[in-house]
Amino acid sequence: MNSKKKIVIIGGGISGLTTAYQLFKAGLDVTVLEKNKEIGGSMETISENGFLFDRGANSGLETVPLIRKIADEVGLKDEFIHANAKANKRYILRNNKLHALPMSPLEFIKTKLFSTKAKFRLLAEPFIGRSKDGYYQSIGQFVRRRLGSEFLDYAINPFVSGVYAGDPDELSVRSSFPKLYELEEKYGGLIVGTIRSIRERKKRKEIAKQSAKMFSFKSGMQIYPQTIAKVMDERVITFADVTKIEKQDSMYRISYDNAGHTKHIDADIVISTIPAYACANLIRHFDSEVGLHLDSIFYPPVMVLYLGYKKEDVKRNLDGFGFLIPEKEEKSFLGAIWSSTIFPNRSKENEVAFTLFVGGSRNKEMFSKVDKEIIINNAIDEFEKIMGINEKHIYKSYRYWSKAIPQYTIGYVEHERYFDKFEKKFPGLILSGNYRGGISVGDCIKNSELMYEKIVSTIGNA
Ligand SMILES: Cc1cc2nc3c(=O)[nH]c(=O)nc-3n(C[C@H](O)[C@H](O)[C@H](O)COP(=O)(O)OP(=O)(O)OC[C@H]3O[C@@H](n4cnc5c(N)ncnc54)[C@H](O)[C@@H]3O)c2cc1C
Repeated sequence: MNSKKKIVIIGGGISGLTTAYQLFKAGLDVTVLEKNKEIGGSMETISENGFLFDRGANSGLETVPLIRKIADEVGLKDEFIHANAKANKRYILRNNKLHALPMSPLEFIKTKLFSTKAKFRLLAEPFIGRSKDGYYQSIGQFVRRRLGSEFLDYAINPFVSGVYAGDPDELSVRSSFPKLYELEEKYGGLIVGTIRSIRERKKRKEIAKQSAKMFSFKSGMQIYPQTIAKVMDERVITFADVTKIEKQDSMYRISYDNAGHTKHIDADIVISTIPAYACANLIRHFDSEVGLHLDSIFYPPVMVLYLGYKKEDVKRNLDGFGFLIPEKEEKSFLGAIWSSTIFPNRSKENEVAFTLFVGGSRNKEMFSKVDKEIIINNAIDEFEKIMGINEKHIYKSYRYWSKAIPQYTIGYVEHERYFDKFEKKFPGLILSGNYRGGISVGDCIKNSELMYEKIVSTIGNA
């Protein structure tokens, strides 16, 4: 594309880099500013003592072809991997026992995860009408109404903590699970809607999240943003902590701290992909209301705990993705991923690796009230009991995210509408990142495509 417009992207996470890469490939003048030494944001991988751990996102869902396309183009063709087929099986803890989540009607009839009463309750779903609460209902309310309390407690509650580290009674069904909300809005119910939307999706050749393949990379998730940054070379500046954005005539002046020196860069278009709370500080002087919206987006704390064991010490068959724990089970952690089952290269042949998640919206206060070492020991203790492990781990480390994942809470639509309004008021200043359009890696990449199209059309029309 032949344009002299200067684009600056703030934030070198997956949202920023995939957007930047597409603009760069189109021949546009784009620079990424990342405050840390390392590229990747919530995609962070460590390799230690023969274990490979993803400290943030551990996998993604291949929902759009762009994910693979960029991986191939930047030279990650041989690195790209899909999850082991075993990972389709997921367990839920109930009464201290792991139950496989049923994957077929027959398994559903047979499972002990749900009582007979709860199973019969599901049959009523097609006869339940739409809610009048529309945008202002939680996923908890929605599921309780359509599928019953037990299904909420033993399927949706653990699922919500697995994806968002969230609380179902706080998250907006419309903003956090738009597809689910749409099934009720468009088709009047979940069962009817699922059947009809499968047919429609087949026609559109779209991949639904539940059938998209899980992917990662042989060297872990971080290699993806890191390699994109390598390809973009000096267009990605690290140690560039953006401290100010000012409007100067038709341009924006961005100031950043670079190893103790304040530097400036002028841009026609600025795309912020940094977390909402960080973005608030940069733009509230443009419009105090946008600052309030950004400030009120809650990010709960999450601790990711990595454990390694000798294979011979784990007697249980590791035949799945791992397990999630419903809140009702009252454990001190949210669930565990059987990392070395899902992807190769996560441990040596004679060892196994696990990733445990602790905290989240369910336990907002946990880390301010209890010492981290106590939290870790409790989680390990409970984990070993559930798994039947009697021998001590051979590896342990953790990563604490004080503000992990944005929660799309009830009324989130007000934020979404205001962000649209703000962008119209300040053309060229764009708000992006995982607090808009989905928190998953797949959604961030999908959004980068929309962002790219938006920028190209803005430039084309200028
Ligand atoms: C513990 C955890 C586990 C997760 N697991 C999964 C998973 O398994 N699958 C999945 O799909 N998703 C998962 N996610 C979610 C997903 O990883 C994130 O939503 C996604 O990576 C966010 O990308 P982003 O680029 O929007 O933001 P970020 O990754 O937050 O990137 C923002 C970047 O901006 C930089 N920055 C901040 N302030 C400034 C500033 N002032 N100047 C310059 N740079 C700045 C930061 O350093 C960071 O690099 C997980 C998230 C966490 C925290």
